[in-house]
Amino acid sequence: MRRPKLRELKEAVRALFSPAYTNDFPRKPHKPFERFRGRPYFHEEDCTGCGACAQVCPAKAIEVNDEIKGASAKRKLTVHWDTCIFCGQCEANCLTSKGITLSQEFDFATTEKREDLKQTIEKEFVMCECCGEPIVPQDQYAWVVKKIGLFSFTNASLLLFYLRSVGLALKEKMTPGDKSAVINRSTRLKILCPRCRREAVLKS
Ligand code: SF4
Ligand code: SF4
Repeated sequence: MRRPKLRELKEAVRALFSPAYTNDFPRKPHKPFERFRGRPYFHEEDCTGCGACAQVCPAKAIEVNDEIKGASAKRKLTVHWDTCIFCGQCEANCLTSKGITLSQEFDFATTEKREDLKQTIEKEFVMCECCGEPIVPQDQYAWVVKKIGLFSFTNASLLLFYLRSVGLALKEKMTPGDKSAVINRSTRLKILCPRCRREAVLKS
């Protein structure tokens, strides 16, 4: 005959007279513990649009789409909360450490469609003033200039970008996608993609 397990019995009696371990959610709001990883959010002012978070996301929950329209281009970054697994890799590997952060939100009950559970931000591109191709998002260029400080003046594209941002140089009139643009010595004093920069340096 099996004998009653006294240890379990004692635990059961104690639980009977103790307050509940669970809380009253959803009747009362639940506050998760401090380091809880919940729904990730982009912070537009701190995100450079570099796309590193999308590359490290194991669930492919971050989507990066580049759209070219005439002489301008935009990068759209979307985090899909329905496929996110809240691992925190995006936050841990963010270029600025603040571009995307995990909140403490855990309650995803909704009547919305699954595909509407997302957040999208947009970033304008810096365009090559020779071939018209997008180079990197403007905020990423600005971040690099700030990060390397005076060293950015050794790069003509970064220098021009900085001078324009403080109003000390005029903006070049763009010819969208003009692949036939003549590359010569003076082209070096433009914002250029790596391919045009290499060609301009070789030809001058
Ligand atoms: S928390 Fe993890 S799964 Fe979710 S978006 Fe960030 S990297 Fe992707
Ligand atoms: S700055 Fe951070 S959040 Fe923005 S795209 Fe880069 S890695 Fe992602």
